[in-house]
Amino acid sequence: MNPLAHAYFVLEAYKNEKLTKDQRDHLIVGSIIPDISQFGLANYRQTHTRGGAFLKQAKNPLERYFALGLISHGERPAGLDFHSHKKKGYIDSKQRKVIRVLQKYKKHIGKINHGLTHDIIEFAVDYLIAKRDPTIIKKVRVAFMNPKITETTTHFLRFLNIPRRRTKRINKYIQNKHLQHFFQNFDSLGGMADNWRNIKFFHNLKGGRHLPLREKIKRLTELSYYNLKRKIKNKKIMNMFEETSTYLEKDYHRFLSQSQRKFSKLKNEFLRNINSKKV
Ligand SMILES: [Zn+2]
Repeated sequence: MNPLAHAYFVLEAYKNEKLTKDQRDHLIVGSIIPDISQFGLANYRQTHTRGGAFLKQAKNPLERYFALGLISHGERPAGLDFHSHKKKGYIDSKQRKVIRVLQKYKKHIGKINHGLTHDIIEFAVDYLIAKRDPTIIKKVRVAFMNPKITETTTHFLRFLNIPRRRTKRINKYIQNKHLQHFFQNFDSLGGMADNWRNIKFFHNLKGGRHLPLREKIKRLTELSYYNLKRKIKNKKIMNMFEETSTYLEKDYHRFLSQSQRKFSKLKNEFLRNINSKKV
């Protein structure tokens, strides 16, 4: 799933816990950070399966909350991405119908395949979540601005064996105002269309995957400028998202609640674990 879905999911999971602002911010950022792999900044398998291991070695209480966030996101143990990405999971079950919607917009979105449909479904779900709970965007933005986060993300990236210089760059990207815009954009169809095009454009960059990290980050932050020139196509992409989200609106929340129930056992286990360490 995408950032707002992950933040929404983790906050729902821990809604009955008394959390300090720092703990909540760490849960939120931990629940979103695994997807830096989308930009080639880290390895997908590592960021989506090592939450439990990070929790075990966590050096302070806030790191533990960050690790709980990672776990709520991941593929192993079974966090939200496991439930949405698995075979016959939510995204799989929506593919056929969404592809039918996308076919109408083929001219504007390029080649339609499962990867593209997967991304569009995730973007549309984030839009629906922001519509349902407009406070979520602010919570995410505030969490990423928490000055204590950098120390924790640095430990996490070091834990993944990411070299120091690369870690520094990733931290800079995390604090960049473009990321704040990216989160804010989910509050409107137009903003979401921009976000999606930025990411798609990034993925399509010639040789993008092999660009040095410095170049990747530079391009990511420049994308909003590139896209200004392409505003005309935006309307069609907005329509496509509107149609897709109207279709998903019927059952995306049922899926989230079901996943929440499945996740709660795991969550209680981990929570007991960290409470016994007297955090
Ligand atoms: Zn993910």
